[in-house]
Amino acid sequence: MTSRFVHDAPAPRVVFGAGTVTEVPAEAERLGGRRLLVISTGSAQLVADTFCRHTAAGCVARITKVAMHVPAEVADAAVAAAADSRTDLIVCFGGGSAIGLAKAVAKDTALPILAVPTTYAGSEMTSIWGRTEGGRKRTGRDPSVLPKTVIYDPELTLGLPASLSATSGMNAVAHGMEAVYAPDATPVTTLLATTGLSALANALPRVVDTPSDLDARTDAFYGAWLSGWVLGATSMGLHHTLCHVLGGTFGLPHSAVHSAVLPYVIAWNQVSAPEGVAAASPAWGGADPAAALWDLATRIGAPTSLEAIGFRIEDITETAQIVNESPPPNPRAVSVAGVTDILRAAYRGVRPDAGDSR
Ligand code: NAD
Repeated sequence: MTSRFVHDAPAPRVVFGAGTVTEVPAEAERLGGRRLLVISTGSAQLVADTFCRHTAAGCVARITKVAMHVPAEVADAAVAAAADSRTDLIVCFGGGSAIGLAKAVAKDTALPILAVPTTYAGSEMTSIWGRTEGGRKRTGRDPSVLPKTVIYDPELTLGLPASLSATSGMNAVAHGMEAVYAPDATPVTTLLATTGLSALANALPRVVDTPSDLDARTDAFYGAWLSGWVLGATSMGLHHTLCHVLGGTFGLPHSAVHSAVLPYVIAWNQVSAPEGVAAASPAWGGADPAAALWDLATRIGAPTSLEAIGFRIEDITETAQIVNESPPPNPRAVSVAGVTDILRAAYRGVRPDAGDSR
């Protein structure tokens, strides 16, 4: 038990449960929204259309095209749309890309966000923004981009394909795994992280086996909520930085990268954070977490190799150098050699041995 800590984790109001999407009009009204900018991904178009028909407020602007990693030109166009339409509330339906675009608008305009997530990525629970320009993805924290209200309706995830459910679920798992060894972890964030990890470890195999299983979807969303919360409440380490570089610079799919890299970062980090990593082991039935992460990814059909998702071995050096330019807080000192070792292991995709420190 940590004897001294600062716990400072502002979190949105959360409305959770099957069918809660019908609460979006009332929650928008509660936030005082009269002129709404509605952002939605392709899969959420019908839900957004239904919302616009049922809300008393005006949907004065709609954005239906979003892109991963928040390209600068997409963000700037959305900010202009919000200004032109004199929006007073952003309502977004979709995964991390739709929510990321909403945050880009909020960052420039201070408009409040009501988020209705449809994946397990967790962005809705954080004040972390991202923006990609000239092949570099920048991220930062700004309290103004933290959504005011989040509505988790697991029915909206029933159509999320098994493959995306698996990778997005591994993205959520990564939040919990890095939270347990974060320098600003508290007993509460560790409790949330380990509870979230257990929920995800239990639910994700059921989700991919039967994507229409509402109970499994509900459990997975519960885990995703807690994981997103701890992502927002703690400093993320090397794993998250590495994934942003691999996505932002090399255009690799965000959630698949998380899955392919996570077991190897945890294997590398656990020598320097044995207690933190051990805190997560109940989620894995007491097994070695790095190996268990590889087993979970394999069980649910998520990638365990960077080669398999299109990363080129010749890009390892550049990736390691970019990460090393501004190393994140991490239990083990970040170095070009260390990141290179992790990337080589992740490229090969072989199951980490128990206690493997590379
Ligand atoms: P995404 O939002 O890009 O969605 C992936 C695909 O899934 C899209 O084609 C989308 O239309 C589809 N989709 C989404 N929900 C669906 C559903 N319910 N049914 C069917 N299809 C659906 O993917 P993501 O993994 O949710 O988000 C990735 C982005 O989020 C990245 O840019 C990442 O950097 C960002 N992110 C940010 C944070 C943060 O705290 N700022 C946290 C996690 C992820």
